[in-house]
Amino acid sequence: MTELTDLSVHEALTGLQKGSISSRILTQAYLARIERLDPHYRAFLTLTHELALQQAEQADRLRADRKRTDAKLPPLLGLPLAVKDLLCLQGVRCTCGSRILEDFIPPYTATAVERLLQAGVVVLGKTNTDEFAMGSSTENSAFFPTHNPWEPGRVPGGSSGGSAAAVAAHLSPAALGTDTGGSVRQPASFCGITGLKPTYGRVSRYGLVAYGSSLDTVGVLTRDAQDISLIFPHMAGYDKRDATSSDRPVPSFSLPEHPDLHGLRLGVPDEYFIPGIQLEVERAVHAALDIFQTLGAELIPVHLPHTEYAVPVYYILAPAEASANLARYDGVRYGLRQSSSSLLEMFENTRGTGFGAEVKRRIMLGTYALSAGYYEAYYSQAQKVRTLIKEDFDLAFRQVDLVAAPVAPSTAFRFGEHQDDPLAMYLEDIFTLPANLAGEPALAFPIGFDDYGLPVGMQLMGPHFAEPSLLQTVHAYQQVTDWHSRRPPEPV
Ligand code: GLN
Repeated sequence: MTELTDLSVHEALTGLQKGSISSRILTQAYLARIERLDPHYRAFLTLTHELALQQAEQADRLRADRKRTDAKLPPLLGLPLAVKDLLCLQGVRCTCGSRILEDFIPPYTATAVERLLQAGVVVLGKTNTDEFAMGSSTENSAFFPTHNPWEPGRVPGGSSGGSAAAVAAHLSPAALGTDTGGSVRQPASFCGITGLKPTYGRVSRYGLVAYGSSLDTVGVLTRDAQDISLIFPHMAGYDKRDATSSDRPVPSFSLPEHPDLHGLRLGVPDEYFIPGIQLEVERAVHAALDIFQTLGAELIPVHLPHTEYAVPVYYILAPAEASANLARYDGVRYGLRQSSSSLLEMFENTRGTGFGAEVKRRIMLGTYALSAGYYEAYYSQAQKVRTLIKEDFDLAFRQVDLVAAPVAPSTAFRFGEHQDDPLAMYLEDIFTLPANLAGEPALAFPIGFDDYGLPVGMQLMGPHFAEPSLLQTVHAYQQVTDWHSRRPPEPV
């Protein structure tokens, strides 16, 4: 028998609309499953048990009322959702995975979350993250690491590892994540689910705690592209509270009933198939490309020659922006404050004890790159190379509609494997960083397993605002494959 928690977003919404399930029963099923299984995974930092039940009951009441009057209902009414603990929800603590915000209760709600609440979602809780989203494994959370549901000795990826593990383990049908350099796509890939990093500016960053402001995006993780296409349009769109949000209208689009990709030109860049990439990852990507071709897509070699600079460029720019953004945690305005005899000592003690090692490393790297004498050599130079990376894509998108690539050079690694070697950890991001540097949308999805039974993912990248075509293309692939419906074993 299928359990309620096995329903996908579209199945759950159909059940809710038909009245065969109530939001209360669905929400209770998820809360019970979280209570039973999350001690194994540790995907959640905070559960919003009471709030969720209140929202679910309200959803059921609204549905019952409107049925009588035939009025229009919010599109996601009663759908449970998990939220990465980097997005503010009024009245619920937002830790960002950091001791410095351990007790911070935001007085406002992030626009993306607010819009989904307007659309009717029920919030189950806040999910674990690397501290301030700095990491690729969720090991940098100040509280505890999250375990990969496919293999508890392995990381779920990061920094949205809590969200990815929650969706993969059926603790939530969908979750919000953030992607500054790959944090939606890489954990989606490590956990065998589907994750969208939208175009920069497509979803408001208001209420998203800032890491690298020119790179940060709010994305969504679900089991398949169809589920993302139901949620994403309701979080996107212009917001006057985010000066970088785009005023381009959010288009409505539908997913094709039949998988047919004739006319689609799919670019395959050499630069993403480099020595050092795990053999099974490369093989799985080629196998998936064959399927795209069978569906009618034309595969065209493209060149993105500046790809190799993405890691050094990102690891100058992101820490530079982070060092400025994190200056606000000084013990004066909000968050942790360590008492001391002088103001300077208070700053030092608060930041010294409040931030973890990786965050301190980034602040130091960023401050160095921005300091007089080094600014030109590092920060300015990195900005110029960022433009070259963006221009590589502009050129490629004159020849092709989308670009296909692996998400990460390897499948989920073991806890501790890269913990002593920050550079090795940074190299994990090599394939995800370019889309952030260029501001482009990208969609990661599962395409197989490696010899250890760990999920392998790939991504499609598109020109700005190509979300509809990314979702349509991956939906076609998911209509003829079933990787997205595989699920990890239940813990015993
Ligand atoms: N792993 C990258 C970093 O540590 C990206 C993280 C992210 O996208 N938030 O910066």
